[in-house]
Amino acid sequence: MSPTTAGPTEREARKVAEGARESEWTKPSFGKELFLGRLRLDLIHPWPTNSPEQVERGEAYLDRLRPYVETIDAARIERDAAIPDEVIADLAALGTFGLKLPEAYGGQGLSHLYYCKALALVGSAHGALGTLLSAHQSIGVPQPVKMFGTDEQKRRFLPRVAAGEVSAFLLTEPDVGSDPARLGTSATPVEGGYLINGVKLWATNGTIAGLLVVMARVEKAEGHRGGITAFVVEADAPGITVENRNAFMGLRGIENSVTRFHDVFVPAENVLAGEGRGLKIALTTLNTGRLSLPAMCVSASKWCLNVARGWSAERVQWGRPVGRHEALAVKISFMAATTYAMEAMVDLTCLLADDDANDIRLEAALLKLWASEMGWRIADDLVQIRGGRGFETAASQRARGERGIEAEQVLRDLRIMRIFEGSTEIMHLLIAREAVDAHLAVAGDIIDPDASREDKIRAVAKAGAFYATWLPTLVAGKGVVPNAFAEFGALAGHLRFLERTTRKLARSTFYAMGRWQGGMERKQAFLGRIVDIGAELFAMSAACVRATAEAADRPEGVELADLFCEQARVRVDALFHSLWDNTDTADNAAAKRVLEGRYVFLEEGIRLASQDGPWVAPVAPGPSQKPDARRHLSAPGVAG
Ligand SMILES: Cc1cc2nc3c(=O)[nH]c(=O)nc-3n(C[C@H](O)[C@H](O)[C@H](O)COP(=O)(O)OP(=O)(O)OC[C@H]3O[C@@H](n4cnc5c(N)ncnc54)[C@H](O)[C@@H]3O)c2cc1C
Repeated sequence: MSPTTAGPTEREARKVAEGARESEWTKPSFGKELFLGRLRLDLIHPWPTNSPEQVERGEAYLDRLRPYVETIDAARIERDAAIPDEVIADLAALGTFGLKLPEAYGGQGLSHLYYCKALALVGSAHGALGTLLSAHQSIGVPQPVKMFGTDEQKRRFLPRVAAGEVSAFLLTEPDVGSDPARLGTSATPVEGGYLINGVKLWATNGTIAGLLVVMARVEKAEGHRGGITAFVVEADAPGITVENRNAFMGLRGIENSVTRFHDVFVPAENVLAGEGRGLKIALTTLNTGRLSLPAMCVSASKWCLNVARGWSAERVQWGRPVGRHEALAVKISFMAATTYAMEAMVDLTCLLADDDANDIRLEAALLKLWASEMGWRIADDLVQIRGGRGFETAASQRARGERGIEAEQVLRDLRIMRIFEGSTEIMHLLIAREAVDAHLAVAGDIIDPDASREDKIRAVAKAGAFYATWLPTLVAGKGVVPNAFAEFGALAGHLRFLERTTRKLARSTFYAMGRWQGGMERKQAFLGRIVDIGAELFAMSAACVRATAEAADRPEGVELADLFCEQARVRVDALFHSLWDNTDTADNAAAKRVLEGRYVFLEEGIRLASQDGPWVAPVAPGPSQKPDARRHLSAPGVAG
């Protein structure tokens, strides 16, 4: 099969994604309600808290971790593009590989909130350290085994990973990125288990892991439900070869692999949750797993703000500190306000996850999308604020006798946040799917090209009944009552905006459903803006609720929440405007012409990118022809 073209159709790809989707909503969801036009503040206000025991345990843990983090030689990691064995061993000894695991399995038993705080702390030393721990715990063995493993699997695997045996998650393949329907790795049933064959790409921790979660396809057959299945695999099983350690624009020190499986035997007892449950496991694991990357974005944003504050006050050009020139002042203000909101959003989503009374899948998805985009903008602003020094490496600054500030490194390290664990484009689609779910549920057969005439007539009647009760709720609400939300004091006006705008968002989605019906799913730019508005509204809500809860102890928080809301409202207004006033149609047509080569003349006059080799390398089955690039950690006490 030609890797870039043939394969499952768009409809089949969507079917696979749809099959993996959790369609049930058994718990309330602030995010879901938001897209339905209801600002359910009661779900997040008053600000939730961890129990006193969770706080005590978490704070004590951070107190133990902080002094060690201060000693890490981050410049060495950046220079050597490797995390030294002893750092991994030290982090393991401190329990950072089992932060969320119960004590019974050797873990630290931290809440999601403190897990994220610990991750942010370690990640602030070097991005590769945060990625090591995050990939291990948010998608690697600990989380899916904790959630879906049998008691026996938990007893077998969790103590190992809690003690510091590194784990990795292997879904991506050369031909499988955002589209798991193309998954080619196979698991063939044999006596007592399965034989896995295939090649996995870009597995973070893959070169040092002792345990792997591998996604492979089982063919449907007598006694086999079949489908994409999750396996826990011992990394030193015969037939596994790490064929390459991949290198990237940022995150130097990340241990990322190409891993080949050739007739790798995996016992049946290593299947997680049964055949065909692999993608559901991946998606469910990511509900809370998606908290990790935003925690690292918070970490990076705080770091950027700290540097911007010190530098902008000290550096004088044209007669005043650079931070007092308006062009930079607006950037510094954006950084401070956005960092406040981003931390409020991460903490709130963690606290909701800890409370377990709410469904947080949409909040976590909105958070991942928004924090990765905003973190990137903040780091980019810092590079600009630092001027030439922003582009210069820290090592070069140190060599010249100046303080080494890693602004360019942080920018490089953050770029991938917008791509992995669901790219921005895929997050838009995933969230939009939930945002329009209510409409699809009632109007599904109206817009389904395959539905019969009778089904469509029935669906029209059903939809009519739903909209007759739903639409009037979008017309008026508390947001138009002058003194509503008075308990939010200075922020009450923003709460009224939130309430009004939440209804406007649902009305806009409804109009669009009416206008495009079945074509709506192709309106990615429109849906992306709807989702971006939802993310801003969630961020505003989190900032206001937190600031109000802490107003007595930290009145500055109210200033920042107010500032953030002013800035977010400008973005929201612009997004609403561009819902209906945009160049989407022209852009679609133009992109088609670009792809057809109409504007090739534009590419003349330069030396072009390499034309050697295929865009996507075809996977040749069989044993590896390459030496094993696996790195065996040598430090005592660490398996690998
Ligand atoms: C440093 C690094 C670490 C990683 N770690 C892991 C790991 O530990 N385990 C693992 O399994 N994978 C890992 N990955 C893979 C990562 O998750 C993928 O890169 C990501 O899922 C995107 O897939 P892709 O790169 O193949 O892009 P593609 O899927 O080829 O997408 C290319 C572009 O098209 C867009 N696109 C794709 N489909 C659509 C659509 N339907 N609508 C609109 N736009 C679309 C994408 O957003 C992107 O902009 C890692 C990657 C990197 C670079």
